[in-house]
Amino acid sequence: MGLLLAFLLLAAPARALDYATWAAAQPVVAHPEPAYHFAAELHAGIAPLVASHPGVLRPFVVGTTVRGQPIWGFRVSDPAHAPTKKLLVFANIHALEWVPSEVAVAFLAEIVRDPPKGVEITVIPSLNPDGRARVEADLLAGENTYRRGNAENVDLNRDFPVNREATAIWKYVIPGRYATSPAPLSQPESRALDALAAKERFDVAVSLHAFGGFFYYPWAGRWERAPDWREMHRLGQVMQAAQGAHAYKPRQLSRWGFFFRGHGMEIDHLYATYGTKSFLIETTRSGLSPLRPQDWNTHFRWYNPKEPERHVREGLRALRALAHEIGGELG
Ligand SMILES: [Zn+2]
Repeated sequence: MGLLLAFLLLAAPARALDYATWAAAQPVVAHPEPAYHFAAELHAGIAPLVASHPGVLRPFVVGTTVRGQPIWGFRVSDPAHAPTKKLLVFANIHALEWVPSEVAVAFLAEIVRDPPKGVEITVIPSLNPDGRARVEADLLAGENTYRRGNAENVDLNRDFPVNREATAIWKYVIPGRYATSPAPLSQPESRALDALAAKERFDVAVSLHAFGGFFYYPWAGRWERAPDWREMHRLGQVMQAAQGAHAYKPRQLSRWGFFFRGHGMEIDHLYATYGTKSFLIETTRSGLSPLRPQDWNTHFRWYNPKEPERHVREGLRALRALAHEIGGELG
């Protein structure tokens, strides 16, 4: 009987995870960062949009985390205008960087109401749900732990195959700066992103991070200019112009400082492997203030200002301008 049951279970076709059912099962709890959304709250906000925009907003599972959690993605396009371009926006690859998820979900809510013409947009509010869940547990427990990686403590943004080799002489002086992951694509979260990028061949991708106030483009791991750097710089300027006063600045990531390189990063991989023009946007300029020394040792606050609204608006302006530029001028 037990064997028969096991056989029937194995023989049954795997059913696709239903987003509405999954989202409704996520417990929403009170927490000490009310200006931010815990993951359950983000999805409680997205689920009604999915229900009210059938055909326009389409959830899908990008992949599964180390702990078996789904990584959700959302495709948005206007059914009346067949898209010819593809834009990917993903966030929260680093566990403590939450403003990026707020920006991603605000962007999703906006484009669902009025999808930009000619471009299909894929939004992944969190590429690292396990890392995020640990930060949520820390906040609830009143603990202040520095967290960057996934459940295996691997920095997903050093887990990609391109430009992993440190060449700068400074790697010998400050080796921690240049450490990569155990092996290329060693983690399920980075493999999920890679598989999606291989399948979709996005024209442009944006990875939302915090903090810094830059629109970074490849290369991150080499000083040389990328072949398309002028076009990427121009798209960065489009986003910069849309932000107005105090706008972020477009820059090649490896030229942030003469000693700085980022090895095995997502933007170098997406650009080198799939030809996707890629940006790492460092949202905000940190949540620390000289006027609030009590925050200086609070890791969550380093990345996430107490009042995120202004930073979410800045991010939205940039993404909106980029989407229209891709769908229009490039379309
Ligand atoms: Zn980051």
